[in-house]
Amino acid sequence: MLRSDSSHKTRYIFVTGGVVSSLGKGVASATIGCLLEAHGLKVTIQKFDPYINVDPGTMSPYQHGEVYVTDDGAETDLDLGHYERFLQSTVTRLNNVTTGQVYYNVIEKERRGEYLGKTVQVVPHITDEIKNRVYKLGSQGYDVVITEIGGTVGDIEAMPFLEAIRQVPYDVGRENVLYVHLTLVPYIRAAGELKTKPTQHSVKEMREIGIQPDILICRTEQPFDEEISRKIAMFCNVLPESVIQAYDVDEIYKMPLVYHRQNLDKVLLDKLHLDPPRPVADLSGWQELAEKVDRSREDYVDIAFVGKYINLQDAYKSVYEALRHAGYANDVQVKIHRIEAEDLESSALDLELSGMDGILIPGGFGARGIEGKIEAAGIARRNKIPYFGICLGMQVAVIEFARHECGMEDAHSTEMEQDTPFPVIDLMAEQKSIQAIGGTMRLGSYECAIRPGTLAEQIYGSQKVTERHRHRYEVNNKYIDALAERGLVISGVNEATNLVEMIELKDHPWYVGVQSHPEFKSKPLSPHPLFRDFIGAAKARRAERQGAGVTAGNS
Ligand code: GLN
Repeated sequence: MLRSDSSHKTRYIFVTGGVVSSLGKGVASATIGCLLEAHGLKVTIQKFDPYINVDPGTMSPYQHGEVYVTDDGAETDLDLGHYERFLQSTVTRLNNVTTGQVYYNVIEKERRGEYLGKTVQVVPHITDEIKNRVYKLGSQGYDVVITEIGGTVGDIEAMPFLEAIRQVPYDVGRENVLYVHLTLVPYIRAAGELKTKPTQHSVKEMREIGIQPDILICRTEQPFDEEISRKIAMFCNVLPESVIQAYDVDEIYKMPLVYHRQNLDKVLLDKLHLDPPRPVADLSGWQELAEKVDRSREDYVDIAFVGKYINLQDAYKSVYEALRHAGYANDVQVKIHRIEAEDLESSALDLELSGMDGILIPGGFGARGIEGKIEAAGIARRNKIPYFGICLGMQVAVIEFARHECGMEDAHSTEMEQDTPFPVIDLMAEQKSIQAIGGTMRLGSYECAIRPGTLAEQIYGSQKVTERHRHRYEVNNKYIDALAERGLVISGVNEATNLVEMIELKDHPWYVGVQSHPEFKSKPLSPHPLFRDFIGAAKARRAERQGAGVTAGNS
């Protein structure tokens, strides 16, 4: 590694938030990481979540949004998705730490007698455990470890985390630590003014707990002028160049360029005394992407998104992101029509869906809305509309095919219907035994062997791929022959477990189901091939229908 000091020292950046939640700390942290990677540094990002659940795996999407799955099978916070989309480095279970995990470990140690009779306390035992989680990542050869602290300053739950990060300079030296604080500079319409007071208060609160932020990232609707920057700098005790504006942009993937234009990377490198391998940031990929984003504004495809939690912005975060990546790769906007599966069961669904350029059914759990989803998979099949079924979306495609093409009336998944006469989706043998002892899902990365000559092979351009999983049920191997006989192609299997990974249909332009969650591996600079090709097929359908004069116009 090229750098002035010979010994390898890891630098630590802590990102906290103030004023209000939902300012986009995850994206800000990811963007900081992205800029440092653009200078050739090795970076990782970790998220601290102050809740007491051990992980978000058991939380309802109403509580938490998407559960993001890592290669090593951890169920984590959706901010880890931002980290992987903005960075090249991958995350593992070490990158998400919750209060629940921290206490769990400390209590286990206490039971094993490891505290040698001491009274176990928040300071130092909980805070030491938190710091260890930071240093553990630091010991893996990263130049910079970025740690995002969930919640906002002042939250009771976040206090041990803030106390822990306050102590870090005492362990590793102040010069190796940076505190970045994200705040809001609201525009008050009645006064016609931007207000800096909330930022001042937030920083004051940070100082009260002993942390002086080095860099302020100010969320604002509109860019503000120097005078405001200087005022914030003066009142908050930072240098004016350390006041960075995170103004609203039409696409979050433009943020690396927005921050770079304000010299954030230079400020970070200077403050951390880093002499990076690449003195000038290489952001060419992001620059090209920004151009693609602007270009894509001229055309669009209509995609029906048939789900259960569709009113929640974050429940299918990675799927929405993957669709946007795929759109940019095809020079189109992806207009997502969110359709609540439950509403479909009775209504005139056919009409609505046949006007679409593509239909996507994402993952899901439980019986609510299931008949609507099965119906939607059938409409896509019969009308030759590009169909992409992800996890549950693949399972409903199999159920629909069994019912309507193979004469298996009332075929179902045993998740929804225990006593179905045709359990085409079921728990497989080993899962049944795991289930019996309370074990749960197929989680994390699994290999898929792709059958030669299939659409899947053409899309991936490979016969061996890996994708991440999060599900319990599988295609029931007992019915595979019957399904295949009628034209359902098993295009991918996991050879080690002999489980179905991918399906497709003969005589259909684009009908693909995957048991995995490919959305977790799509990045803006490398869109996932399945999403890219699905949107490509939707675009082709649109062009064909436009040629025939059957699209609804710009509605
Ligand atoms: N509920 C289904 C299962 O457990 C699908 C899960 C999913 O879509 N992630 O197998």
